[in-house]
Amino acid sequence: MSTEHVKVLIIGSGPAGYTAAVYASRAGLKPVLYTGGQPGGQLTTTNDVENYPGYPEGINGPQMMVEFQQQAERFGTDIRYGLATKVDFSGYPHRVWIDDKTEITADSVIISTGASAKYLGLPSEQEFANKGVSACAVCDGFFYKGKPVAVVGAGDTAAEEATYLANLSPKVYMIVRRDEMRASKIMQERVLNTPNIEVLWNHETEEVIGNDTDGVTGARLVNNKTGEKTEIEVNGFFVAIGHKPNTDIFKGWLDMDETGYLIVKPGTSHTNIEGVFATGDAADKVYRQAVTAAGTGCMGALDAERFLAEKEFEMSTAEA
Ligand code: NDP
Repeated sequence: MSTEHVKVLIIGSGPAGYTAAVYASRAGLKPVLYTGGQPGGQLTTTNDVENYPGYPEGINGPQMMVEFQQQAERFGTDIRYGLATKVDFSGYPHRVWIDDKTEITADSVIISTGASAKYLGLPSEQEFANKGVSACAVCDGFFYKGKPVAVVGAGDTAAEEATYLANLSPKVYMIVRRDEMRASKIMQERVLNTPNIEVLWNHETEEVIGNDTDGVTGARLVNNKTGEKTEIEVNGFFVAIGHKPNTDIFKGWLDMDETGYLIVKPGTSHTNIEGVFATGDAADKVYRQAVTAAGTGCMGALDAERFLAEKEFEMSTAEA
């Protein structure tokens, strides 16, 4: 088990983490950033980002994250692959373990761990994970080119994934559990005006069907109004039912709501622990946008900088 001390530790590599890194490194704080299990974060599973200011023509999500990383590297951020697996915020400096083996002690910690896709929780869904079941159409849709697919969910993500898949597949079923969609009006219209998308209203999935050789071959659905069961033939089964914040390791240390979103002092990135700052989707259940994540990443770095300056001042006056 190795140990290392850093001034600013950033956990996570989405827009929040990299923005915090740009600000902290430009402030001379020599931040160390651990990428987490999905380097680049959720935007690496997105196709076109059209609503991030400064890209008038839009930009591809993975490319955008490469650019975020390059910008952080340009100012000297030490970017490392690794997953924070445990923390101990009982004393000072703060302690964080990476991949259960490296212990980092940090004068300040900026949490930018984001959120992860939710699944339905069916055993068959797990059985066929990466064999037809996916939570990212943009990542995996290509594998089902020319084949029928299904998307579960009725939010903007599901609508976006269904329209994306409709360009690749002859038939896209959208499995919606109510008789209306949560997605924005423009996205709903896009779905309803795409001829090869069929919306199955009031339907829930009972089982994903398949076998070892072919992976997913279909899904058994039930109409929750009539109880009627149907089977659809699909080779790709895309789950797009929302996200869960990646904050499990902070349970017991940091204040969070019932879903696990970290609670910050309003208008700041301060958590209930001095020197620990929360940014991005891990602390945002309302906006969840790349640009808001980047904005709070900036706040995290500025709050950390101020905290460290005050701490240094306290120590120098205590010594004098
Ligand atoms: P949402 O939480 O908005 O939607 C989740 C959807 O999944 C809902 O329709 C919900 O149904 C459905 N759902 C949840 N659990 C189940 C279940 N067990 N079985 C079946 N269906 C289920 O998540 P999104 O990921 O779609 O969006 C998150 C945020 O990101 C939103 O604010 C969205 O606007 C934003 N976003 C914006 C985009 C853009 O601007 N380009 C693109 C993608 C997302 P019900 O409605 O019945 O609760």
